[in-house]
Amino acid sequence: MADLKTDVRYIKGIGEQRAKALAKLDIRTLRDLISWFPRRYEDRTEVRRIADLIPGETACVCAMPASAPAVSHIRRGLDLVKLRVVDETGTLDVTFFNQSWLKNSLRPGESYVFCGRAEGPPLRRRMANPIVEPEGRRESTGRIVPVYPLTAGVSRLVLSRSVRQGLDACADILPDVLPDEVRREHQLCRIGYAYENIHFPASFEALDLARRRLAFEELFLFTLGLRRLRQRRETVEVEPFGPVDMEAFYRALPFTLTEAQRRCIGEALGDMASGRPMNRLCQGDVGSGKTMVAAACAYFSVKNGRQAALMAPTEILARQHYEGLAPLLEPLGVRCALLTGSGTAKEKRELSAALAAGEIDFIIGTHALITGGVEYRRLGLVVTDEQHRFGVAQRAALAGKGDHPHTLVMSATPIPRTLALILYGDLDVSVIDQLPPGRQPVQTSFVDGSYHPRIYKFLRRLVGEGRQVYIVCPAVSESEEDDRKAVTEYAAQLQREVFPELRVAYVHGKMKPKEKDAVMTAFAGGETDILVSTTVIEVGVDVPNAAVMVVENAERFGLSQLHQLRGRVGRGKWQSYCVLISDNRNEETRRRLKVMTKTADGFKIAEEDLRLRGPGDFFGRRQHGLPGLRVADIGCDAQLLREAQGAADALLARDPELKSCPAAAERIAELFTEAELAFS
Ligand code: ADP
Ligand code: MG
Repeated sequence: MADLKTDVRYIKGIGEQRAKALAKLDIRTLRDLISWFPRRYEDRTEVRRIADLIPGETACVCAMPASAPAVSHIRRGLDLVKLRVVDETGTLDVTFFNQSWLKNSLRPGESYVFCGRAEGPPLRRRMANPIVEPEGRRESTGRIVPVYPLTAGVSRLVLSRSVRQGLDACADILPDVLPDEVRREHQLCRIGYAYENIHFPASFEALDLARRRLAFEELFLFTLGLRRLRQRRETVEVEPFGPVDMEAFYRALPFTLTEAQRRCIGEALGDMASGRPMNRLCQGDVGSGKTMVAAACAYFSVKNGRQAALMAPTEILARQHYEGLAPLLEPLGVRCALLTGSGTAKEKRELSAALAAGEIDFIIGTHALITGGVEYRRLGLVVTDEQHRFGVAQRAALAGKGDHPHTLVMSATPIPRTLALILYGDLDVSVIDQLPPGRQPVQTSFVDGSYHPRIYKFLRRLVGEGRQVYIVCPAVSESEEDDRKAVTEYAAQLQREVFPELRVAYVHGKMKPKEKDAVMTAFAGGETDILVSTTVIEVGVDVPNAAVMVVENAERFGLSQLHQLRGRVGRGKWQSYCVLISDNRNEETRRRLKVMTKTADGFKIAEEDLRLRGPGDFFGRRQHGLPGLRVADIGCDAQLLREAQGAADALLARDPELKSCPAAAERIAELFTEAELAFS
C-alpha cells in the first residue's frame, strides 16, 4: 500500500482538489499530513441538557428541531436561518448567519448536537452560529476536538477529515523508529496509537501518552543525528595546523585580552592543531569581545597558509567587522576583503576570482559568502557570527565550500546549559564569561509612561553632552505594516513636538537592507542624535557613543531581547542608561521587568526568561532550525530529553551503525539532509 512519501492526492478520499488546498500548508506527502499536529484541543466531550446551559459558557446540547428552519434574507449579503430546538428539559433558539444550506439539512424529529455559546435568560436561551452535526457522528462534537493551524481555503473540517483519511491510509504501515526495548523501557505507547491520539484523543490521558511518545521519538532521533554528525567529524582527519607566533598578533591589539578571551582562543587553537576539524561554539555576552577570538583564529589559520571566512548576518555588521579587523590584520600580512550582496556584479566577480586565486587571506561578509559562485582556494576556517540568526544548514553550506574547514560559531545569546546541549549537541563549547575591564554597568530603570516628560528632558541633556540615543518601539501587531507606521509616526512626532532642534531618524524591518544600512551607518557616524526603531538594531552594531536605550512598551519584549537591546549601549567610556517604560499593571510582568534592573548577567536573565516564557518564545517558534522537533518542547521537556539522550547513547554503544533499527537510521538521514536543504 501507500508509504509515507505518497503524495496526498493519491490517498483515498482526498483527491486533486483537496490536495491543492493542503499544499497551501505545505502538506504534500502522507507524512506531512499526519505530522500536521493540532495546535490545541477543545474539550467537547460533555453534552449538556438545555436546562443546564449557562449563559456565556460554550457547551454542547443534543436536541431536535421543533419545526423546519426558517430562512430570512435580512439584506444583501446577510441570510439568517432560525429554528427552535428542544430536548426533554427545554427549548433553545438557534440562529445561523449566511449558512442557508442548513435549512435543508436540519430536519425536525431528528437529533443533532449543537455546540456554541449559550445566551439569554433561562426560558429564552439562545445560541448563535453553533457548530452542528447529527447525533452520533462525533466528528466535531461529543469528543476532544483537534484545533489545527489553518489557512484560507482549508477549513477545520477539511483538514481534520483529510487527517482522518491519512491516518486510515497508513494505519498498518507506520514504521516504528523506536526499537521495542526502548519503547518498553521508557513506557512509551505504540506509534499507531500515538498518531491516532495526538489527532483524535480518546481522552486527555491518551493525549498525554501520545504526546510523550512523539516528543521522545523526536528527541531520540535528534540526539542520534547530532551524535552521528559528531562521530562523522571525529573520523575525519585534517592536516594539523602548526605553531604560529601569536604574540605578534597580541602585540598589535590596542588592548590586553581578557583572561576569558585568551582561554577561548587557546581552546580554538588547540582544536585546529589537533588534526580533527574544529567545531566549536564561542558563547559570550554582548560586548564580551568575541570578535577578537574570531580574529585570533583567522590569524592562526592564515599563518598556516589557509584562508579564513567570517560570515555576519547583516551587511552593516559585516562591514563593521571588516573596518575593525582589516587595519589590525593587514599590517600583519593578512590580506582582507569584504564581500556582501550590495557590490556590483563586476566587483563580486573580481573578488571571487581573487579568492579562488588565493590572493585574499581573510574574507568577511554576509551570506553572499555561501552563494554558488563563490570559490575558495584553501579555505581552512569558517567563523559565523551571531549564529542564532543562521540555521544549522547555513553553517554547513559555508563549511561545504572547503574540505572540512574548521568552524567556529559565535553566539551572543546566552543559552542555559540544558538548551545549549541540545542546540549545539554537535559542538564543543567555549564561554567568554568576563567583560573587558573598565566597563561601567548600564544603569537600568523601570518606569511608567507618566515619566515621558522627564525622560525627554534627560535625553536632551545627554544629547547636549554629545551622546546618542536609541528609542525602541515594540512590534505593535502581527503586521509589519503597522510596525512601520508606529515607528515612523513616533519618530515624526518626536521630531515635530519634542525635539525640533535634534536630528531624529528611524529604522524598521520593512526598509530595504540598503536603506537600513544607510540609516545605521549615519547613526554610527554620529550624524543622528536619536534613532527610533523596531528591534532591527538588536543585531550587534557597535556605536560606542550611544549612551541611552529607551524601550517603549517594554512588557512586550522577552527578557533576553531586552538584554540584547541593553547591550547596544555601555560600549564606550560613557556612563550609559537603559530606560524601560511600561504601563502594564500585571504583577508577573512587573516582576519580570524588574529582573532587568537587578542583574546584568545574560545567563541569569536567559534562565529567568526561559522559566517564565518557555522555549518557544525564547527562540521564536519554528525559528530554531532544529530538524524534526514539532512536538517536543525543548526546555520544558528537559527530563524527557535526558531520557531520550540516555536511550540514544545506549543504543549507539551497542549498535553504532544502527543496524538493528534501519527505520531510525533512514529517518535521521532524511531529517538531517532536509534541514540542510531547507536553507540552500
Ligand atoms: P561582542 O562579544 O558583543 O561581539 P565585540 O567583539 O564587538 O563584542 O567587542 C565589544 C567592544 O569591546 C569592541 O569595541 C572591542 O574593541 C572591545 N574589546 C574587545 N576586547 C577587549 C578587551 N580585552 N579590552 C578592551 N576592549 C575590548
Ligand atoms: Mg559581536
